[in-house]
Amino acid sequence: MTGFVITPPAVPALAVADSDQVFPLRRVFCVGRNYASHAREMGSDPDREPPFFFTKPADAVVGMDAPLPYPPATQELHHEVELVVALGAGGADVAPERALELVWGYGVGLDLTRRDLQALAKKDGRPWDMAKGFDASAPCSPLLPVRRTGHPAAGRVWLEVNGALRQEGDLDEMIWPVADVIAYLSRFVTLAPGDLIFTGTPSGVGALEPGDRVRGGVDGVAAFELTVAEAAAGR
Ligand code: MN
Repeated sequence: MTGFVITPPAVPALAVADSDQVFPLRRVFCVGRNYASHAREMGSDPDREPPFFFTKPADAVVGMDAPLPYPPATQELHHEVELVVALGAGGADVAPERALELVWGYGVGLDLTRRDLQALAKKDGRPWDMAKGFDASAPCSPLLPVRRTGHPAAGRVWLEVNGALRQEGDLDEMIWPVADVIAYLSRFVTLAPGDLIFTGTPSGVGALEPGDRVRGGVDGVAAFELTVAEAAAGR
């Protein structure tokens, strides 16, 4: 082999808090319905379901320092504030009691969702990819290493839009805590350094509009502020 036929894509990466170094991204996994309150608001019975997963492209992860582009092809862009787990080590069939050893650090992210397209996909039994995995669909705060956050098992998860509280929950309400999420996911795929896991959202999801000011966080991990940009011309 003498080289790539096109310029190879850049390695997607996320900022690390208080550091010039960045965290390289491999894959992004998201847990569906991991808080009972959100499962109920989406019409499910939280007591009956094992965790399920969907993915986003690694290059859908963006920082929160620039205005968030309002995506095309939706009338209903929903926020889902979530604890994000960054893996610094990998493995398959990881035991729950060893699972936290894989974690490099934590951040706070938004699992942005085209809720209108997701509803159509659910109705027709189609994939969620275009509802969940669009460009810039995974804004995330700078990551903090475990030595700064520990492994947070409790802490308020919250989100405000234009100063009004929309989402509020606590990490201790997760149906599947982080260790269980990692262990369960590792039964389906071999996890690897650079993988991110969005761990699910509490209730209160709702629509974002161009121009909205969004604040949120997970107490003990990070807080963020970002604005939603105006929709691109012609869309
Ligand atoms: Mn979510």
